[in-house]
Amino acid sequence: MIKADAGVKLSDLVKISIDNNLTGLEWAIGIPGTIGGAVKVNASAFGSNISELVKDIKKKDNIIISVELEMKKGNKKESQKIIKKYSEYRKEGQPLEYPSAGCIFRNILNQGAGRLIDQAGLKGTKIGDAMISEKHANFIINLNNAKSKDVKDLIKLIKKTVKEKFDIELEEEIQYLGF
Ligand SMILES: Cc1cc2nc3c(=O)[nH]c(=O)nc-3n(C[C@H](O)[C@H](O)[C@H](O)COP(=O)(O)OP(=O)(O)OC[C@H]3O[C@@H](n4cnc5c(N)ncnc54)[C@H](O)[C@@H]3O)c2cc1C
Repeated sequence: MIKADAGVKLSDLVKISIDNNLTGLEWAIGIPGTIGGAVKVNASAFGSNISELVKDIKKKDNIIISVELEMKKGNKKESQKIIKKYSEYRKEGQPLEYPSAGCIFRNILNQGAGRLIDQAGLKGTKIGDAMISEKHANFIINLNNAKSKDVKDLIKLIKKTVKEKFDIELEEEIQYLGF
């Protein structure tokens, strides 16, 4: 078992688990944020999600204070190999060299939202300094000085274009704060 306070960084937890020869969390490498946030949004990648490991959650009101994860005994070297593979996959397929909020839209009906946006011809579209990534169309990157309104306007444009072209309503995976 791993017991972690909610503010522990997910990436630190991955490393701590591997250093202790525990396996099961390798898929989470490269996901920014805390274990508390990951549990709240049920972070997932590469076919796994955090709820599969959660055995107990301590809460105060609605705030997650700590989490217990049930891990399996593993092998440090094997885990490091898996992590390397996942990290390379992310580096090749995601625009990690720019700030972004990660994937903007949920995948829908087994279709990658990124693929739909790509097929709608929107890759590289810019509003201000916000741009639909050429590398992964479900990411909106900040080239330098993008405003939240630029990002919001791009999201609106994507939803409108995908609806017109494919009659599919994309739904945001991100949450809006302060709008
Ligand atoms: C480059 C990039 C790649 C990403 N890749 C992935 C991916 O592969 N898979 C994936 O699932 N996500 C991915 N994300 C999104 C990321 O998982 C989430 O943003 C992150 O897991 C949320 O954790 P956080 O600590 O940042 O929470 P925040 O973003 O700060 O909060 C998210 C939500 O959880 C709530 N919350 C946070 N902490 C607590 C707590 N202790 N108790 C109760 N509620 C809380 C907040 O109020 C909010 O509603 C990616 C993001 C980026 C930028």
